[in-house]
Amino acid sequence: NEVVSKNFIENIIEKDIAEGRCEKVITRFPPEPNGYLHIGHAKSILLNYGLSKEYGGNFHFRFDDTNPTKEKTEFVDSIKADVQWLGADWGEDLFFASDYFEKMYECAIKLIKDQKAYVSDLTADEIREYRGTLTEPGKEDPYASRSVEENLKLFEGMKNGEFEDGSKVLRARIDMTSSNINMRDPILYRVAHMTHHNTGDKWCIYPMYDFAHPIEDAIEGITHSICTLEFEDHRPLYDWVVINCGFKNTPEEAPKQIEFAKLYLTNVVTGKRYIKKLVEDGIVDGWDDPRLVSIAALRRRGYTPESIQKFVELCGVSKANSSVDYAMLEYCIREDLKMKVPRMMAVTRPLKVVIDNFPEGEVEYVEVDNNLENPELGKRKVPFTRELYIEQDDFMEEPPKKYFRMFPGNEVRLMNAYFVKCESFEKDENGNVTVVHCTYDPASKGGNSPDGRKVKGTIHWVSAEYGKRVTVRLYENLVDEEKGVYNPEDGSVNVNPNSLTVLEDAVVEPALTEGKAFDSYQFVRNGFFCVDCKDSKENAPVFNRIVSLKSSFKL
Ligand code: ATP
Ligand code: MG
Ligand code: MG
Repeated sequence: NEVVSKNFIENIIEKDIAEGRCEKVITRFPPEPNGYLHIGHAKSILLNYGLSKEYGGNFHFRFDDTNPTKEKTEFVDSIKADVQWLGADWGEDLFFASDYFEKMYECAIKLIKDQKAYVSDLTADEIREYRGTLTEPGKEDPYASRSVEENLKLFEGMKNGEFEDGSKVLRARIDMTSSNINMRDPILYRVAHMTHHNTGDKWCIYPMYDFAHPIEDAIEGITHSICTLEFEDHRPLYDWVVINCGFKNTPEEAPKQIEFAKLYLTNVVTGKRYIKKLVEDGIVDGWDDPRLVSIAALRRRGYTPESIQKFVELCGVSKANSSVDYAMLEYCIREDLKMKVPRMMAVTRPLKVVIDNFPEGEVEYVEVDNNLENPELGKRKVPFTRELYIEQDDFMEEPPKKYFRMFPGNEVRLMNAYFVKCESFEKDENGNVTVVHCTYDPASKGGNSPDGRKVKGTIHWVSAEYGKRVTVRLYENLVDEEKGVYNPEDGSVNVNPNSLTVLEDAVVEPALTEGKAFDSYQFVRNGFFCVDCKDSKENAPVFNRIVSLKSSFKL
């Protein structure tokens, strides 16, 4: 029984609809193609897409590709794949801000003609210095008095490549004494001789975000332009651009910028430059390393779009910055997978068991429910043989109190199969247990004894003869949680040395080798696992643990 209450953005939209300010809701997700998307972006994507669905509107997917410095086609492709995977269907509404460069240029010309923009020769440092501070008003730009004719000529020269990078900018003429620093004659255009992934070498001037973004929204008729909190102070400039470029007459008519708090995860690295460093230092194997929280990494780890949707829903939308525990994400994937995927037997750290009274060379197929809680998943047959593997820690030579698994003299249930009693064991020269000998009770087939005898321990197993060797990877947080994410001394990430455990000798039921990339399973008692899409080979899957079965997390 979830409490259904509207979030503050829904309230704003419903008021706008009720008061006739908007006929059809149009939202957008505007990533800059300069990196991979992460879980925070998923929130923005699903929020904007969800609102467009909720109000029968449209969702625009727009690449905000106005700054060629860091943008790449590679990122355009990965971002598209991520948005699609998350289920935000943009239909026909895919846009590129760079397609509006001509229109943006015209807007700049209009501002110049209206004496609302001028070309300045100040350097970047001087502009910063002249801008003043929170407590100190800005100083007038000495070039602010240039005539319209001179500005038109210089701006055209900028466009035609007559000036070097950084030598001239176009500034809005607003108010150098404004209490809002964003309004102190912000830069609209800069010179940058760079090749753009979409427009090539056509342009050598590029618009700044604060100029480009409102124009993009206005061109597309975005009704609600949802962004994160740091843009709150930019809102007056956003409205200024929409109005002064002639799209609308009042802020009420302009696309409505609404700010919400970013999603932060506690003890998780999301910053691009930190991840880049981890990749470069070989600490993680690329942007989609399963320990990261990029969308590609979460997908590779085995997260589903449904689990991320659920997570984003649980996080809610707010104006206050806060940080969410990673355990909540884990809760969401457990909830999503528990009924959906088969529960299989896999032994991660194998120990050989020989059932001395079971005939050699014989195989018996035991029938097993694929998912006891979901009969729709059917049943399968699992081979049972004289030699099996169990988990190393399911046997103890000298058990402590309350240890109900295998130890000399004790009887346990082999899951779905028989009662077996541990009779003896062998050790190697180092004292490690190598083989455990048992006898089985043929009358206990299926896991219960007709004489009503009870056993306390139930353990899983895999046939030594029919089982397949695979690699299984277990993960812990990439970050050393004791130390926190960042080392204050050098700003590096405090890496947990145990974040990855690779078990190359795991043994699984034969059926598991048929798994294809992204197939998920529950390995009974061990957690949920997913077939890795990069390192698996035909009939030799590598399994990533998505999440263990137990959690202290409570809703
Ligand atoms: P950068 O500016 O360094 O590229 P960015 O993450 O802000 O980083 P954008 O491509 O500008 O990258 O982001 C696209 C959209 O995703 C923006 O609307 C932004 O507000 C939103 N977004 C980014 N990070 C988060 C986050 N942590 N939580 C929610 N929304 C986010
Ligand atoms: Mg980005
Ligand atoms: Mg950004």
